[in-house]
Amino acid sequence: MRKLRKYRSQLRNKKLNFIGVFVIVLICILGIFPLSSNEKEVSNDGGLEDTVKIEDSYSSYIIEGAKIKVHYIDVGEGDSIFIELPNDMTMLIDAGESNVSSYIAEYIRDLGYFKIDYLIGTHPHADHIGGMSYIINNFVIGKIYMPKAISTSKTYENLLNTIVDNNLKVTTAKVGVSILNIDNLRVDIIAPNSDNYSDLNNYSAVIKIVYKNKSFLFMGDAERVSEDEIKTDVSVDVIKVGHHGSDTSSSASFVKKVNAKYAIISVGADNEYNHPSEDVVSRFQSSGAKVYRTDLNGNIIVTSDGDTLEVTTSK
Ligand SMILES: [Zn+2]
Repeated sequence: MRKLRKYRSQLRNKKLNFIGVFVIVLICILGIFPLSSNEKEVSNDGGLEDTVKIEDSYSSYIIEGAKIKVHYIDVGEGDSIFIELPNDMTMLIDAGESNVSSYIAEYIRDLGYFKIDYLIGTHPHADHIGGMSYIINNFVIGKIYMPKAISTSKTYENLLNTIVDNNLKVTTAKVGVSILNIDNLRVDIIAPNSDNYSDLNNYSAVIKIVYKNKSFLFMGDAERVSEDEIKTDVSVDVIKVGHHGSDTSSSASFVKKVNAKYAIISVGADNEYNHPSEDVVSRFQSSGAKVYRTDLNGNIIVTSDGDTLEVTTSK
């Protein structure tokens, strides 16, 4: 219902535009494509195109006071972050292991969404892309971003097949790719910066979101090698810590540059890797960040209107 009300108010705001475009479309259809059966087919295509344009104009418009809501979903040892963008679009960064895919799907549906506009597979490890085929098969998907990394794992092969089966394409995730740049909202890919790494983790797509005066960084499993290559300003309010808090990531100099208020670690309780590293946790704490962990706090939700930040947790 909340979404419906929001949509209605957007509709009111856009009503004049809508009527204007509708009248133009009607004139075009009646004027240019009158009444034989062939011509009718052409006019249908024209109508469809215009409908798409109208929908696009909604997503490039942010209503006053709209919020970004970032859900760090508790998927155990793995990552899955669902983002309600302030322009009413949605983004999913990773989808955990395959055994949590239905939980993620239910979580997103419970929020009232059936479409994921931007789906990002940070890198081809199973704790990030394991649940992605299920998500693609169960949601309407807009664009998919993944880095150009080679993996011969069954999970990765499966995912590529699912993408082809659903007539979707992959846009390469790498530094310099802008996902969204409208009003006061920017979503950019700031890593990987190289084409070749010895460790798959460093291929991780690193995403930076800036909404008005607040900013978010999502590190995937990027390690120190990738951190050192990033030229973009990484000082943000909220960071999704790289590689589940492992000491392979979050070097002292990087943590200092990030200078976050909140550091979120997506990590499984009693995991076999001993994540997160105590050093990494205290590094963030002594940089002034409050640390939240999915193993201790459950689902972590950060909400912002672009000026304020609010954190809520399920535990
Ligand atoms: Zn991982």
